[in-house]
Amino acid sequence: MEPETVAPKASPAGERLLIHPDEALRIVVDAAVPLPPSRVAIPEACGLVLAEPVVADRGLPPFRRAMMDGFAVRVASAGRTLAVAGEVAAGEESALHVTEEACVEILTGAPCPPGTEAVVQKERVRMHGERASLPSAIERGENIAEPGSDCQAGRVVLGPGEPLTALGVAALASFGAASVLVVPRPRVAVVITGRELAGSGDAFCPARIRDANGPMLAALVRCVGLEPPRVLWAGDDAEAIGRALEEVGDRDIIIVSGGVSVGKYDLVPKALEARGADVVFHRVGQKPGKPLLFARSGRRLAFGLPGNPLACHFCFSRYVAAAVRGLEGKAAATSLRGEILEPVRPEADRTRFVPARAQWREEPPAGWRLRPLAGVSSADVFGSAGANAYVEVPPGSEEVAAGAELRFEWMPDVGPAPNPAVSAALASAVRQDEAG
Ligand code: AMP
Ligand code: MG
Repeated sequence: MEPETVAPKASPAGERLLIHPDEALRIVVDAAVPLPPSRVAIPEACGLVLAEPVVADRGLPPFRRAMMDGFAVRVASAGRTLAVAGEVAAGEESALHVTEEACVEILTGAPCPPGTEAVVQKERVRMHGERASLPSAIERGENIAEPGSDCQAGRVVLGPGEPLTALGVAALASFGAASVLVVPRPRVAVVITGRELAGSGDAFCPARIRDANGPMLAALVRCVGLEPPRVLWAGDDAEAIGRALEEVGDRDIIIVSGGVSVGKYDLVPKALEARGADVVFHRVGQKPGKPLLFARSGRRLAFGLPGNPLACHFCFSRYVAAAVRGLEGKAAATSLRGEILEPVRPEADRTRFVPARAQWREEPPAGWRLRPLAGVSSADVFGSAGANAYVEVPPGSEEVAAGAELRFEWMPDVGPAPNPAVSAALASAVRQDEAG
């Protein structure tokens, strides 16, 4: 499916125009349509989106099931002392019958023998040698699960489009499914450009820096639940970049690090186009991550992320993670709103995304509080360590005052949004620790 709006390609001077970060995100989400379904064993399907309905092949329970350890009886036997005809355990079929004169000892999960009207809990029965003394009040049907009372045969238990949970896996197993059709996880490759990068095994020369993005992107890919990506190095040489792109051409998502700006060695856009990819947008009105590039070749997606590690992290968090969700058939992550604890300076003409520590506070007014952790420069990943979110600061000329409410998005590598109750409990534990 083609994206509805194709971003403006270039200014009259030939420079690509900036597009709004919301428009960029919308284009990525529209392009990331669910991958063709595939069949996987049910334990592997947990966390993936179902591509077929799960239908109950038989009712559950499939027979009248005892829900307690006790005695299968008729209600008219209430208050009497009876012979025990025998025992039926879970998983057993028994030829025993329950009558007014004789009850049957029964264990949880066992099928009720013919004639059973109630299962009286063991704790309510007094034994006199071999005979059982029943309580005076017995309710018809007590402690019996009727066939199909959990689920009727033929019922659709889970529909296509729903992400499968471990409980869903239990349902599938109960209905006899060994495998299920799901939207698979996308397969990702990472291509690292930059001749300034020293492999950690190479001799270190002062003009070189260590590769931060390769390990970071591999970590991010795993954090969003995917298999570890293939990581290739391509220097800053058009041919090597072309070869690397060729080698990983079968991947659903290709992430290229570096080489997407306007420098002499920024060869990624041309290398992608030379391989037949359409550059959908290049340059977004945001900081960090202005040089972000998005290209597609059929349903395969490629992202050119800026080499600056913080920009690279941000662009993955906002755009690549959204593409992963789309390809997996999952709904886009929603942004939240919170109160900033320190003033932030906007950019005049671009949206700023500031790394921040988001924390839930119970104290009124309860809500998210956001402490900006911008670091000293846009390349400073260390100043931003401890951040778990990006706060969105719309373009403007005046400082946004502390106390203002702004949108923010979770970083995908901090796991699901922290549970407010857990955050509150942790905060109170820290307070007690400090007090004591
Ligand atoms: P580029 O996007 O290639 O122009 O790179 C922008 C900045 O990020 C430059 O200072 C690069 O040296 C730096 N950089 C590029 N790739 C990496 C990387 N893999 N790890 C750490 N820094 C990088
Ligand atoms: Mg570079």
